[in-house]
Amino acid sequence: MIKTIGVIGAGQMGNGIAHVCALAGYDVVLQDINAEQLNKALETIGGNMNRQVARGKISEADKAAALTRIRTSNDIRVFAETDFVVEAATENEAVKKKIFADLCPVLKKDALLATNTSSISVTRLASATDRPEKFMGMHFMNPVPVMALVELIRGIATDEDTFRQVRELTVKLGKQPANSEDFPAFIVNRILLPMINEAIYTLYEGVGSVEAIDTAMRLGANHPMGPLQLADFIGLDTCLSIMQVLYEGLADSKYRPCPLLVKYVEAGWLGRKTNRGFYDYRGEHPTPTR
Ligand code: NAD
Repeated sequence: MIKTIGVIGAGQMGNGIAHVCALAGYDVVLQDINAEQLNKALETIGGNMNRQVARGKISEADKAAALTRIRTSNDIRVFAETDFVVEAATENEAVKKKIFADLCPVLKKDALLATNTSSISVTRLASATDRPEKFMGMHFMNPVPVMALVELIRGIATDEDTFRQVRELTVKLGKQPANSEDFPAFIVNRILLPMINEAIYTLYEGVGSVEAIDTAMRLGANHPMGPLQLADFIGLDTCLSIMQVLYEGLADSKYRPCPLLVKYVEAGWLGRKTNRGFYDYRGEHPTPTR
């Protein structure tokens, strides 16, 4: 039975996962190699919970209790007693494999393990652990406290008990699970990212400005936010990694990452998290950069 939850990576996703787990009553350990990210994550969680209190979704007491359940650390040995660990570090296969190599010797023998990867093969990541049968994909959506869906992905070796426990946890967190087979980028990103990539091509080829493309898709396709705004929100580095996984994993040129996306990532313009992407976030309102 899962009582304590470890979260690796305190970025946008890690802080959201820690937030919902703590509110659901679990003891949470949030770990990152970057101490600054841990402080920022706690600040973000506090701010997001304040917003939930103001909207009447949770009480002040729920918030206070949840915050006391979250511990942070930059040492991976902190996971020695956790029942379940979800990895939400940078979308890079080598980074994730190195994390699992360091983590497995520390974990309890029967601890379950999941990855929040957006696109990388769960089976391949599982093979970098000492427990492929206790490993699976648990793909939360961004922002985690708001989005209802969690994609559940079994690797080839995932056993039924692991799947059942992670599914139960998903429901206890108030989320709706959807099962996906272990194919590059699973369901949501297999469909969403090629659309975002195409929006970037549309900009690159001069078909429309940032503002025109986002307005067209918001008002013409009834999307809640434009694809370029969404790309900034996801993080352009994460978008590029997902396109590369699709391109390489499915060996089809239709998934070729747009050169403009590559250039933005090379420039360090990663979207909201660096204050610049297709929009500039330094002012009071985001302004298009092209
Ligand atoms: P992010 O860049 O905001 O955060 C990544 C964090 O991982 C950083 O704080 C970094 O310091 C930390 N990290 C890097 N190496 C580490 C290590 N060895 N040990 C511990 N921490 C380490 O990225 P994010 O958007 O939170 O994405 C994290 C994961 O979630 C990725 O796999 C991504 O594909 C996935 N995901 C992202 C989204 C999204 O919309 N951004 C949605 C669903 C899933």
